[in-house]
Amino acid sequence: MGSVSANELILDDLAEWLRRYAQIIDENKTYLTELDSAIGDADHGANMARGTAAVVATLDQAQSIDALLKKAGMTLVSTVGGTSGPLYGTLLMKMGMAAGNVVSLYPDQFGKAFRAGIEGVIARGKTELEDKTMIDALLPSIDAFDAAVADGAGLHDAIESAQQAAAAGRDATIPMVARKGRASYLGERSAGHLDPGAASATYLWDALADVTGA
Ligand code: ADP
Ligand code: MG
Repeated sequence: MGSVSANELILDDLAEWLRRYAQIIDENKTYLTELDSAIGDADHGANMARGTAAVVATLDQAQSIDALLKKAGMTLVSTVGGTSGPLYGTLLMKMGMAAGNVVSLYPDQFGKAFRAGIEGVIARGKTELEDKTMIDALLPSIDAFDAAVADGAGLHDAIESAQQAAAAGRDATIPMVARKGRASYLGERSAGHLDPGAASATYLWDALADVTGA
């Protein structure tokens, strides 16, 4: 379990986070592919399972948080076939760059780094809220995390707030008409389905909650 008592995330916690994320993706790959079969090309589960399994193989090499996240991000870019690979890759690479050459992060530093990653996805994907993408889960989640930390919440509670906000953002994609990605080709017919990337993005917080015992 993580270093919750110290109220910070250390290098090992972040490696454990990505390990747990890979596990959750693997357990849910059929579900993710089902979601993608409704409004995409039925490969999101396979894409993410392939990419996150490759990431797990890189985790023991890193000596710092930036190295860990940059390597993980580059691995996603090179192993995930779909649009989601470069986007999740950008998320982790930008997060690593923002975190810097350190071996632990306080909650506010983690929030800042994660937000830099999300801003990287927004820039690369030219996305905004309500485009029916992973951003609809990610942006509210980091807002909730930062708000909880600013309110004086500990790591555990801030992660729980983010997890709930991500799930709410994910579920809010159901009625949306997609404006980005393959789902946008369907126009109005994309409404009524949960976005697969919003589902896989929510697992990031589920994994972190598991690892930190939140
Ligand atoms: P592909 O669409 O190439 O098959 P995936 O199926 O792996 O790739 O991923 C699809 C997910 O990627 C979507 O559900 C959506 O959340 C996300 N996505 C697609 N385009 C964008 C974008 N421009 N910005 C952010 N997320 C996007
Ligand atoms: Mg797809």
